[in-house]
Amino acid sequence: MLKGIGASAGIGIGKARKLIEKPIVYAAVAPADPAAEKQRLDDAVQKFCERNEARAKRMDACGADGEILRGHIAMLSDPYMLSQMQEGIEGGACAEKAVETVCDMFIAAFSATDDELTRQRATDVSDIKKELQRILLGIEDVDLSSLPPQTVLIVEELTPSMTVELDRENVAGIVTERGGRTSHAAILSRSLKIPAVLSVENALALIPSEKEIIVDGSTGEVYTDIDDATRARFIEAQKRFAEQAALEEQFRGKPTVTKNGVSKKLYANIGSPKDLEAVLASDAEGVGLFRTEFLFMDRDTAPTEEEQFEAYKAVAVGMHGKEVIIRTLDVGGDKNIPYLHMKREDNPFMGFRAVRYCLQNREDYKIQLRAILRASAYGNVAIMVPLVTRVDEICTVRTMVEELKDELDAQNILYKKDIQVGVMMETPAACLIADLLAAHADFFSIGTNDLTGYIMAADRGNADVGYLYSTFDPAVLRAIRHIIAAANKRGIPCGMCGEAAADVHMLPLLVSFGLDEFSVNPTSVLSVRSALSALDSTACDEIAQKALSMETEAEVSAYLSSL
Ligand code: PEP
Ligand code: MG
Repeated sequence: MLKGIGASAGIGIGKARKLIEKPIVYAAVAPADPAAEKQRLDDAVQKFCERNEARAKRMDACGADGEILRGHIAMLSDPYMLSQMQEGIEGGACAEKAVETVCDMFIAAFSATDDELTRQRATDVSDIKKELQRILLGIEDVDLSSLPPQTVLIVEELTPSMTVELDRENVAGIVTERGGRTSHAAILSRSLKIPAVLSVENALALIPSEKEIIVDGSTGEVYTDIDDATRARFIEAQKRFAEQAALEEQFRGKPTVTKNGVSKKLYANIGSPKDLEAVLASDAEGVGLFRTEFLFMDRDTAPTEEEQFEAYKAVAVGMHGKEVIIRTLDVGGDKNIPYLHMKREDNPFMGFRAVRYCLQNREDYKIQLRAILRASAYGNVAIMVPLVTRVDEICTVRTMVEELKDELDAQNILYKKDIQVGVMMETPAACLIADLLAAHADFFSIGTNDLTGYIMAADRGNADVGYLYSTFDPAVLRAIRHIIAAANKRGIPCGMCGEAAADVHMLPLLVSFGLDEFSVNPTSVLSVRSALSALDSTACDEIAQKALSMETEAEVSAYLSSL
């Protein structure tokens, strides 16, 4: 059995088919006619853009996110990138060489950053480079659009363009040698619902072609030696997975309520107005977390008040009066925005991030708060403040909001008068003073992704301490219970927008603690509604009591998984 990262859940059983690309070979001779060579490059770029726009449309049509490919087009349409290539040709390079030199320069720059998202851009540029060179050389792409039935694709790295071409019906699974859970390929395979295991070391060498293999996208396991018993076990698991998905579909359009009639709010997390479609398709009852920092990424300057207003308004309007919780800029930590010129920090997760940055850059923060306030006239918008550690932070934000309201009144600009301002509970300090914060917040939302790391003092990106990073650890469970209890005591709603809100093993505890709102990835909405409907809150209390009496994470995990 080989092990990688489970990136898209489900079981794929089929014949391994390796995708080894034809090598790109060209003679780097200086063009006799540079003007004609530049034209050849322009033609190739145009073909690239047309091809990718068509692919993006096909992706949109099948519910996947075509924007990644439109991002490729935008990158190549960037006058800087193209003019660099043309300068290369003027300097004596053939078009293929000019493409290679410029793309390699971008790849090196992107790969050298500490920021995961920026590093992912290197894969995008590598994808652009290969495709442009193939177009220039007239090399036909491997035909992924017509594959034999039950194919398990084995590739070095799955690029977004490959994912689009895929003959979806015939791809049973995907195995790659590179790529993490947040890579574009992972996101796309999840949206296409293809089981995928990424980062399997030496997969191309270790998995024989045409051999039957099994991909378990939940556990990240790939089985290459299959006996009858293993096959039967996974066929059974596959059936259960399909049955579960069909069962969850029955919860579409239904209210979110436990078996004994306790109603809960079930919201979705988004990063841009483009996610609205997925949210509406997911049947979520609101947006529990709009991560606005994504609006600030992939550009050279901060979005203007008008641009932000349009983005927030689009979501407010699109959700038709359902609640939309907009989190203010959560920059820093692993989210770098180059043009903000933040200093390099030895310990960025403990550093100058989120509300700390915003309160030191108040003029910029005001632009965002004003844009949110203006958008609040178009729907049920709320403001959420990330990484709060002190009472004065939330008080200062509230004062700023009140001052901006006066400004808007003076200008006769509409906004939601009673807009709610909530605190994201994701630091140990916030947990310990939850009672004090509850007096100044209209609501809480628990960010378990950060809270777990900070409580356990374990960086989630560091594999060596990964064993400590678990929401099931007694310390984290107590923190969550404490925060919810403080909110309940003060009579303010408490939600959760970290990944733990979608963990079916965590749900009995969250129900027992009295969590009001669950905000999850759109793809998890129906599974969470289905799981909540099977829970009885009295039984959940017993489960919670038992789990909290346990001393170790291992005991808690084993107990909750056994239910
Ligand atoms: C969290 O920390 O749980 C959270 C939802 O925020 P982010 O993942 O954006 O830090
Ligand atoms: Mg967070």
